[in-house]
Amino acid sequence: MNDRSIAEGLALNAPRPLPYCSYPTATDIAQHGVQPLPETLPLVNFQRARPHRSRWYAAVPAALALALVGAGAVLDRTAPGLGTGPWQMLVWGFCVSTVVLWHATFTINSLAHRFGSRRYATRDDSRNNSWLALLTLGEGWHNNHHRYPAAARQGFYWWEIDISYLALRALAALGIVWDLQPVPLAIRDSHRAAERGGR
Ligand SMILES: [Zn+2]
Repeated sequence: MNDRSIAEGLALNAPRPLPYCSYPTATDIAQHGVQPLPETLPLVNFQRARPHRSRWYAAVPAALALALVGAGAVLDRTAPGLGTGPWQMLVWGFCVSTVVLWHATFTINSLAHRFGSRRYATRDDSRNNSWLALLTLGEGWHNNHHRYPAAARQGFYWWEIDISYLALRALAALGIVWDLQPVPLAIRDSHRAAERGGR
């Protein structure tokens, strides 16, 4: 990476003069009858309603780390020919995979503002990018997200694969989360109205 691309990356991530993630605009409210949302409304209800559950957020990654160390110890004993062990499993299965996950997430604020298509004429340069959506489990539908950040889903149509939203739907079916915020149809289809209007 040269100095210019680093500078461009920093510029992309610099604070913007326009709203980065905004709730429905005055136009949405006036023309589409969309209700303004309070700033505190969660995309999906989980922690706010049952705050005591959120104290245990570290349990799942801790359990993964312990399971990897345990699996490494078992493999070290039962299959020494593999040359693996508890620390190797921890470094690759936990530390490296977590760093890769972070960087996949960071691509949304950089690559998803550079490469892809723009369905909605948002006041930013966000784009929808199918391969970033697969890599980040749905975040790559980033132009959709900037159009209506209050929705729990980022793939607005069925063919826009959004694995995070499918996981939320599964959790909702089990009663673990609820109140998944939908995207109003008037917002979702607003690009069609804009095309018909000749904009
Ligand atoms: Zn963005």
